[in-house]
Amino acid sequence: MWTPLSKKDNLMNDVFKFMLDLEEPWKLADIEYDPQEEAWHLFIDFERGALFACPHCGAPCKAYDAEKKQWRHLDIWKWKTYLHARVPRTDCKQCNKITLIPVKWSRPLSHFTLDFEAWAMRLMAEMPVNAAARELREHDTRMWRIFHHYVNRAMTELDVSLVRRIAIDETSSRRGHRYITLFVDVDTKTVLFATEGKGKDTLARFNQYLLQKGVESAQIQEICCDMSPAFIRGIEEHFPTAEMTFDKFHVMKMVNEAVDEVRKAEQKEEPGLKRTKYLWLKNKTNLKAEQRDTLESLKDKNLKTGRAYRLKLAMQELWTTPHVFADVYLREWLGWARRSQLGAMMDLAKTVKQHEEGILRWFHSRMTNGLLEGINGLVQAAKRKARGYRNVHNLIAMVYMTANKHRLPALAAHRP
Ligand SMILES: [Zn+2]
Repeated sequence: MWTPLSKKDNLMNDVFKFMLDLEEPWKLADIEYDPQEEAWHLFIDFERGALFACPHCGAPCKAYDAEKKQWRHLDIWKWKTYLHARVPRTDCKQCNKITLIPVKWSRPLSHFTLDFEAWAMRLMAEMPVNAAARELREHDTRMWRIFHHYVNRAMTELDVSLVRRIAIDETSSRRGHRYITLFVDVDTKTVLFATEGKGKDTLARFNQYLLQKGVESAQIQEICCDMSPAFIRGIEEHFPTAEMTFDKFHVMKMVNEAVDEVRKAEQKEEPGLKRTKYLWLKNKTNLKAEQRDTLESLKDKNLKTGRAYRLKLAMQELWTTPHVFADVYLREWLGWARRSQLGAMMDLAKTVKQHEEGILRWFHSRMTNGLLEGINGLVQAAKRKARGYRNVHNLIAMVYMTANKHRLPALAAHRP
């Protein structure tokens, strides 16, 4: 049984009253404590015949019945604290509506007070949700529910009316088995939308999202992504007027893979190539002196790998070529790669040719997914904070929170 606080303890009563900051007609009616559970129970009530303003028209109404409710509030001296109240329903004569009167300490349907939720959001901004749940002595699914409410609200308030340029990137969600695709406004560096998967349908969902926000797909002028056929088909279908730029880091990654393929095939005849993978992939300036010497001696051997490597260096120079010469330069490179008699390089030439327009678009748009580097770091942080996140929706909400925190005023302040 809970023990009522003696009526003589007027001072205690005053303290609680002061802390609750109640407004008429609400009164603190009773306080009980439960030493077993180490919990305070504060009972709030109103006098018979009290009037409440109708939420629709403001007319003063009497309660005709009430619903018993309970909310967890901020701890008091480390004890859990619960508010209890009968929440009145009014039957307004003016607008003929039966309404549950909102209470100022909580939002509808929540089992927590606004103060508690603000505290929970502050903790979840700083530590993994699991850890916050432990700290607050609540089940993590209840914490996630609070989290979703505030993140959703902040994301709903997000103004996207000026969005023009988008970068698309995918990230693995759990041990590389599942993916989420991120759509980032390059100009504001905001994650506008994240969705499960990395297929063509992610573009359809992004388009839907924009339409809900009142943005037509034709407003998107530039999109940067890798050469994934799914993304390309999705963009062609859902954003037919957008220009595509293929991320140059992705282009270079493919070139590096082709170089390594040539090296792997050749190392059977040339054992000196074994364990040299990174000598060919890294920038020369990042190699140690000893590694540089090995690379130099191998290069002079007239190896296939050496030729593939020179093609890579030539591709690297594309990005420093003046804009007006870029297409000529790339065409020369393609000719060289085709004549190289190196299978992997000839295949690469085919791929580059197919994507030529989007590769050269970089000279106009100057867009790369490198613009997302900061965002990617935050996404990785979000994954750590959402550890044990149970489902991908939780992870996505955490990505919004972590990546957009400073761009969403409602989240930056954690004010309910
Ligand atoms: Zn009314």
